Amino acid sequence: MEADNLPAVGRTNLLSGGGLPPNDLPLLTMPQICQLSPAVVNKIAAGEVIERPASVLKELLENSVDAGAGRIDASLEKGGSEVIRVRDDGCGIDADQLTLAVASHATSKIKSAEDLFSVGTLGFRGEALASIAAVSRFTIRSCTRNASTGTELEVVGGELQPVVPVGCPHGTTIEVRNLFYNTPVRQKFLRSTQTEVGHATEAFTRIALAYPQVHLTLTNNGRLVHDLPADDFRGRITKFFGEEITRGLIEVESENEGVRLDGYVVNPQQSRANNRTQYLFLNGRVIRDRALQHALTEAYRGLLLNGRYSICFLRLEMPSEVVDVNVHPTKQEVRFQDAGRLYSQLLGTLRSKFLTTDLTAQAEIEEDPSKVACDQTSGPSQLVAWARNELGRQTESKFASPVAERQDAAQPAGTPLPLHRLDGLQSVGGGVAGSPGVDPAADNPDAGVSLPVGKPSALQIHNRYLVVETDDGMEIIDQHALHERILYERIRIKVETAPLESQKLLVPEPVDLTASEAARILEHRDLLQRLGLDVQPFGGETVLVASYPAMLAKISPSEVLRDLVECLEVAGSHPEPTTLLDDLLHSIACKAAVKFGDPLVSAEIDTLLADRHLIRESHHCPHGRPTTLMFTRQQLDRQFKRI
Ligand code: ADP
Ligand code: MG
Repeated sequence: MEADNLPAVGRTNLLSGGGLPPNDLPLLTMPQICQLSPAVVNKIAAGEVIERPASVLKELLENSVDAGAGRIDASLEKGGSEVIRVRDDGCGIDADQLTLAVASHATSKIKSAEDLFSVGTLGFRGEALASIAAVSRFTIRSCTRNASTGTELEVVGGELQPVVPVGCPHGTTIEVRNLFYNTPVRQKFLRSTQTEVGHATEAFTRIALAYPQVHLTLTNNGRLVHDLPADDFRGRITKFFGEEITRGLIEVESENEGVRLDGYVVNPQQSRANNRTQYLFLNGRVIRDRALQHALTEAYRGLLLNGRYSICFLRLEMPSEVVDVNVHPTKQEVRFQDAGRLYSQLLGTLRSKFLTTDLTAQAEIEEDPSKVACDQTSGPSQLVAWARNELGRQTESKFASPVAERQDAAQPAGTPLPLHRLDGLQSVGGGVAGSPGVDPAADNPDAGVSLPVGKPSALQIHNRYLVVETDDGMEIIDQHALHERILYERIRIKVETAPLESQKLLVPEPVDLTASEAARILEHRDLLQRLGLDVQPFGGETVLVASYPAMLAKISPSEVLRDLVECLEVAGSHPEPTTLLDDLLHSIACKAAVKFGDPLVSAEIDTLLADRHLIRESHHCPHGRPTTLMFTRQQLDRQFKRI
């Protein structure tokens, strides 16, 4: 610790040991240590637990759930900054226990330190009511099942008023008025009513999702915002997130050594710009856990655009002994006895589910065609930006890809081909083949000249998309996205067994980088070697590229290297080698794939389509864009008003 950071007393001692003449020192008197009064202690605790009206609502709802309530009614005035009221029909509190309920560190939920390791309730710290009552005008009214009358206790800024009998239904009602009226600093931090309502609604949502069997209502300024009769988990999700999300729900379930995982993940067609719609419940408690969030990201890798987050509603149930919930005052962070196993269980469950689920993007033609397109363009990232640059850019290079190899035999590279007409598509509408503007042969005398013998399996349109007839409708394929996915999978398999094929450069190419970029590249030389890239130090900020992946022959080494630096940077200082390798492979696959805008000959189209059945997850490119949109015949019939 630096001398400057030490408290005054410590600094004096340190300096006196440092050889300075004692008479140069200021005379410091030691401040008195005194026990803080309970009122101050509660205010300090309140600072940790009660950040805003939503935290009060959360604590009160948790208490009602712990009290076994079947119905909980919550109401707010002015986003909770004026009034927060929670009423439940739970077990209630005996008259002679009411003052204890608002005392700090007083709880009915644990008794000993050992109990901390088997907490079966949401609360256990015995701090919430005392904290809330210290910073508000607080009233608690309660009546147990076997009491004939209820009791009421008022606490104003931590000052207890006398307990008085009162008529009230069974259960407990807590009213919190003028939150932070006696802590002006906190009050200043409160945001607009709208923002506070948002936070409070989120707290309500979490409890409502975790306890669908409880009837909950939420009222704001006298207006009923939510009325949620007892339901199941899926029903609750629909109530909060609507039909569209519900349609995309994919049920998951697994059990491993006493840990049960169940719930739903959402089809990657739907995603969010942040991770707030990733709900993880542990034994009925919403938790935030970086490792589990990472497992989610991994499970969706390649299915979502960079910068987009999956949506999920997952519940974990495990014996309370294997998890420590006493980590943070708000009880949202927990510590698992075996975090690694949990990580694997979550990742494994989701991965195997995705492999057996058809994630092909169903084109939502009737609802809003812009939705799919919107997802494709959102979530900017360097690589996506790069890919976007490629849009419309005609390039003759197709690189050493399986598609390009075959193309060489069929057609000189870069020769645009006229539209190929397909038997498949002709048959879709019967008479369509003869329609004006549909038959390319009629428009273009060259059409068909270079068609190989045999029928092309799809129609290329705008040098970008392939249209394929399927058994129950048609598919539109993004040629770049699909090829990228195929290449990615192929390179991945190759790299797992041996380094990628590499070409030695006759004259090693120097690439100028910044000092930190150069350091980063050189630090990961081994990994780059596996990708067929040999990079050597050249002094200063320059590195030399000595050999280079054959499949990237047509792209300049400096462009590739810069892209790789970006991948390394995103990966951070301690990149997970497999994740990093994956990022690099994505980058390489993207660069090597046919471009959006490249004309393809029919042999190339055939190869591309044939290859997609060889790989898993052909429906999304490695950046998560869908490769394929599906239109069912029923959808088409509906659009043409045939049904
Ligand atoms: P904790 O929930 O951690 O025990 P609290 O300060 O939130 O601490 O509550 C203190 C005690 O008051 C609880 O242990 C419980 O016995 C009682 N209590 C609080 N709210 C309710 C309620 N709605 N119904 C019944 N008892 C309650
Ligand atoms: Mg509590």
